[in-house]
Amino acid sequence: MKETKAPTNLLCEYAENPLGIDVTAPRFSWLLNHTERGQLQSAYQVLVATSRDNLDTNKADKWDSAKLASGESINIAYEGTDLESGKTYYWKVRIWDKNGRVSQDSEIATFEMGLLKLEDWQGDWIGLPAARAGEALLFRKEFILDREVSRARAYISGLGYYELRINGTKVGDHVLDPGWTEYTKRTLYAAYDVTEYLTQGENVVGVMAGSGWYGSPQIILQLNIIFADGTTSSVFSGTHYGPHAWRVAGSPITKNSIYDGETYDARLEKEGWDSPHYPDYLRSTHDWVMARRLESPGGVMKSQMMEPIKVVQTIKPLSITNPKPAVYIYDMGQNMSGWGRLTVKGKRGTRVAMRFAEVLSDDGILDQGSVRAARATDTYILKGEGEETYEPRFTYHGFRYVEVTGFPGTAKLENLKGRVVRSAVEPIGKFTSSDELLNKIHQSIVWTEGNNLHSVPTDCPQRDERLGWLNDVTISFEEALHNFNMVRFYTKWMQDIRDTQDKVTGSITDTAPYRRGDRPADPVCQAYLLIPWGLYQHYADKRILEEYYEGLKQWVDFLGTRTDDYIMTYCKWGDWHPPTKECWPPDNPEVPPDSPGAVTVFGGFPANTPGILTSTAYYYYAVSILSAIANVLGKSKDADEYSHLADSIKKAFNRRFFDKVLAQYATGSQGSNAFPLFLNLVPENKKKAVLENLVKDIIKTHNAHITTGFHCTKYLIETLVDNGLEDIAYAVLSQTTYPSLGYMVKKGSTTIWECWEYTSGLVMNSYNHPALGSVDTFFYKALGGIRIDSEAPGWRRIVIKPYIAGNLTYAHASLKTIRGIVSSRWEKQGNSLTLNVVIPVNSEARVSVPKIGLGEVTVTESGKTIWQDSAFMSGVAGITSGKESSTHITFAVGSGSYSFELGESGFNSK
Ligand code: BGC
Repeated sequence: MKETKAPTNLLCEYAENPLGIDVTAPRFSWLLNHTERGQLQSAYQVLVATSRDNLDTNKADKWDSAKLASGESINIAYEGTDLESGKTYYWKVRIWDKNGRVSQDSEIATFEMGLLKLEDWQGDWIGLPAARAGEALLFRKEFILDREVSRARAYISGLGYYELRINGTKVGDHVLDPGWTEYTKRTLYAAYDVTEYLTQGENVVGVMAGSGWYGSPQIILQLNIIFADGTTSSVFSGTHYGPHAWRVAGSPITKNSIYDGETYDARLEKEGWDSPHYPDYLRSTHDWVMARRLESPGGVMKSQMMEPIKVVQTIKPLSITNPKPAVYIYDMGQNMSGWGRLTVKGKRGTRVAMRFAEVLSDDGILDQGSVRAARATDTYILKGEGEETYEPRFTYHGFRYVEVTGFPGTAKLENLKGRVVRSAVEPIGKFTSSDELLNKIHQSIVWTEGNNLHSVPTDCPQRDERLGWLNDVTISFEEALHNFNMVRFYTKWMQDIRDTQDKVTGSITDTAPYRRGDRPADPVCQAYLLIPWGLYQHYADKRILEEYYEGLKQWVDFLGTRTDDYIMTYCKWGDWHPPTKECWPPDNPEVPPDSPGAVTVFGGFPANTPGILTSTAYYYYAVSILSAIANVLGKSKDADEYSHLADSIKKAFNRRFFDKVLAQYATGSQGSNAFPLFLNLVPENKKKAVLENLVKDIIKTHNAHITTGFHCTKYLIETLVDNGLEDIAYAVLSQTTYPSLGYMVKKGSTTIWECWEYTSGLVMNSYNHPALGSVDTFFYKALGGIRIDSEAPGWRRIVIKPYIAGNLTYAHASLKTIRGIVSSRWEKQGNSLTLNVVIPVNSEARVSVPKIGLGEVTVTESGKTIWQDSAFMSGVAGITSGKESSTHITFAVGSGSYSFELGESGFNSK
């Protein structure tokens, strides 16, 4: 029976049944389900109530949207009466399909508010004013609950990192919590449902806190309890004297540092410290002292609404070697971020050290060159009580190899496991093809991206850096949006960027939170504009555009103050790190690095593509995006102004950099030509000639290799694809010789490098750097052919137009979008092609089936002919029209799963 099924996957602020919502008008999204093809939503009704019982009887005491004629199924903002701190709300939705048939009600979902007001925090930040540097602390609070608990919530922040424990058990599965922020501006807290952790009678809440990005540990906690009889009580971090005061003591973690690692002395464990069963005599030793009130870090308290960092995978090492007596090297088989879990048995006081590195030297010894000054060493000191298992809490490393020394007896493979640790964003993209090299490149990119999601998008996970470089994310964010569900993560990072913004000048900084680099940020740092624009494209998130509009405008206006006749007057990084022979120092006055002497140690300044060209192209890009954002927000005056400004920059750009005779920009390097082509800066009548120059340089001069750095590599591939030159892009991306991503794979790498070249020892190189992996979008957008129709963002309209590459026999790309799965899989066999497509309910698509060089073709869908004798044949559900071009047959398609088959005229047709 055809029916309108109930909506599923109910999300509030992009999360399932979230706790700790701290926006006053949370947004709802749902997925539609239908047995028919070509289905759309024509109306919806959302009900929000204060209890499940109310909602069961349709008593929407908070909000009833009433039946609203609308196709929107994502980001519907709550419009009911005020939502209260800490309260749980219940909601459900039903929809009407395009034929006006109503669905069943969805299952009931919940969302719960965080602590919305400062006064909701009754306690103080506590710690020790003179804690020993690098030592993690234990915090303990005892309390008695004399009634049955019906509901309890803990709100906690602990800087730099904390672990919350109640009655001897770790609460939840967050690690390295809270996410890193500019603490003087904001600190994140987590909300936990701790009802099940509490008991009637004696209880203990314990917190372990380490340095993280902050320094000396300090915590704040608010535990709100509702009893079965309806009465309430709170426990909070404070310094009140008396029998139940918070106390602080030293911990077994005698040293902890993100870069250097952790030392854990199991002999110092205080058995039972976090539970009521803790012998009194231990509790009263001088080691436990009264907690002291400390200054707050300075910023506002914000709920951590993004995915926490978690252990997302456990890896069994591939091999163990013993290159020197008592030195063991474990190979995880994968360059990863996280740590090791050690299992060991031995004498009390034995010290086992784990050192981490990405590569080995030729003699099989650990090469820690790429971690630079980070010591990347975890040490465990045994208590000597049988088998002991250790993993660190307040550090992480980027590594493939672990060196274990001091192991009592002979270390075995099973004594160490790799724990993959990152922000637990959901992987949403899949790509596979008949070419193993491409698959490996893609896998390396996904790993590299994942390894660098640590509450901020980091440049690398291993060395003494790990910072949120805007420069890098400007080009990697789109790859990330295809591989992971990044909306909550980037929404948080946007705030980090804004926290660095100078309120007066509008300038932002190279890194957010700001640790290194310059203010003002290099004009290549356009992640600030491109991320909200990307979130709008992928999630139809208009609110992020609204929220940041003024800040974005200020940044763009700031750039304008640094121009001379529309040309940017400063640049620092430019098209950072092209192949080394293209880097400074040759004779290029336009991009002087800070100090020429620095180049040999810190080289990556491009010499082939002038920095001022890159800066000005980005200025144009930023102004154009701002104009587009203004348009979406209905700010037509701004939209016009910035669009005129963009025109002026375009003209000035061409005056300054375009050589009409040679049909090239500036030096004619690949980057110099590709970036203006990508931005459509090239005069229409010159486009072909510039493209030809670009292709000549790639194919003839460089034998299908690039000469570009972080930025222009992405734009070069995009430009080739946009101009129907997918074959050239494919030739570049399937290279296996230097410089190429395939070269990295052939060298045995499982992640993408910072530099195109392999350099061992103490030079600038990271083997786990997402920037050059930005080209991953080629696999989704070109080979899979899946694109968003920018006129209908949030995957409302989808374009499927796969490129059937060279010798590939199949490719499959799929994305779990905010509207559901979008998938495209093609297979080519001789003169026929099958294309299987999935379009989510409430979306539409234009599906272009490539004619693979055939003349007269026939197309069937699930065996029924839909294209024959150059004409569309209607009658197949979900497919409303067809159109032919010289290369494709394009069908207008509604939601559903389709199997298209194309062959020479007359094949297999019914
Ligand atoms: C980072 C890069 C970054 C650069 C600035 C490096 O240390 O690792 O990824 O873009 O500094 O250009």
